[in-house]
Amino acid sequence: MTVRPYRHIERRKSRLIHVGKVPVGGDAPISVQTMTNTLTTDVKATVEQIQRIEQAGADIVRVSCPDQESALALRQITREIAIPVVADIHFHYKRAIEAAENGAACLRINPGNIGSADRVRDVVKAAKDHGCSIRIGVNAGSLEKDLLEKYGEPCPEAMVESALDHARILEDHDFLDFKISVKASDVFLAVAAYQGLAEACDYPLHIGITEAGGLRAGTVKSSIGLGMLLWSGIGDTIRVSLSADPVEEVQVAYEMLKSLNLRRRGVTVISCPSCARQQFNVIKTVEVLEQRLAHITTPMTVSVIGCVVNGPGEARETDIGFTGGGSNTHQVYIAGQPDHRLKDEDIVGHLVGLVEKKAAQIEAEKAEAARIEADKAGAAAEAAE
Ligand code: SF4
Repeated sequence: MTVRPYRHIERRKSRLIHVGKVPVGGDAPISVQTMTNTLTTDVKATVEQIQRIEQAGADIVRVSCPDQESALALRQITREIAIPVVADIHFHYKRAIEAAENGAACLRINPGNIGSADRVRDVVKAAKDHGCSIRIGVNAGSLEKDLLEKYGEPCPEAMVESALDHARILEDHDFLDFKISVKASDVFLAVAAYQGLAEACDYPLHIGITEAGGLRAGTVKSSIGLGMLLWSGIGDTIRVSLSADPVEEVQVAYEMLKSLNLRRRGVTVISCPSCARQQFNVIKTVEVLEQRLAHITTPMTVSVIGCVVNGPGEARETDIGFTGGGSNTHQVYIAGQPDHRLKDEDIVGHLVGLVEKKAAQIEAEKAEAARIEADKAGAAAEAAE
């Protein structure tokens, strides 16, 4: 039981599958994924984009394979990147087989759309032979005709039925290494479909609000929809869909997960909106500070507050705190305690220095703890011999 039960999220129990080396479902951390928007056949541009995506912290990347050349390009792409690739296929079963043969770790394909039973069998065989998992991706905008006729319009029940129909095909082929998504651009529809699916099966769920819009509107819409799902424990892997740079999608996904304490990565800055009481330019400081701290991956909290109204209280809860004081004499807090004052100095440069020092200290402690654990395990193994 946690000390603060109001912060506890009980995650839905789901089966564990793998996308390459990344576990999805079970007790695995909720993985973050995005999708490239380069031409897959332009290997150089695609690899460069994936490397930026990796640096932003993505665990998985999806790459479109609309033609044979793209599916074959995966061979070279996957050699030059560190994170596993989900090949986005849609209809053509041959592309799925080629992608599996050329390094994809997961195939995004709906078995009900592949065609004949022979083709489904061949795709499943390729997935099994090459250690690929599959994502069934149901989309409200492309529901099967019979379901639209049965239900009259895209609705949660139709989406769940579609997902379970596809799932049954894979189950019939003794293939259970799959995850499912039921996306819609309508938040109500997407949330209700995921809630229904979460009740109906224990497969891991890839959650997302599809075609959510541009950076600002899409972030808000995704945060509402995915926030509701994550808060209720639903979701094993997440993609935020934005008409924006994929790196933004990764950053937004992390902010969501960080807000709900589901993942921790990098510096979380807590800052006030500023007002006439501010003793330094809070907005400008935070803007530059966030850019200069983007390289830090160690989880840490930093509060940057314009004056003493809320500064000391926020600083108590953060690793490093900064509160504006009169006459340009600001207060710096370390581990919640007042530590030193800062007068007429470069605030951002000072805080970046403190964060880097703290990050190095945390990483060194982690490495030391890992070394001690390894020594203990080695000693236990020796004793057992
Ligand atoms: S903490 Fe101070 S400066 Fe910031 S918004 Fe509140 S009163 Fe204004």
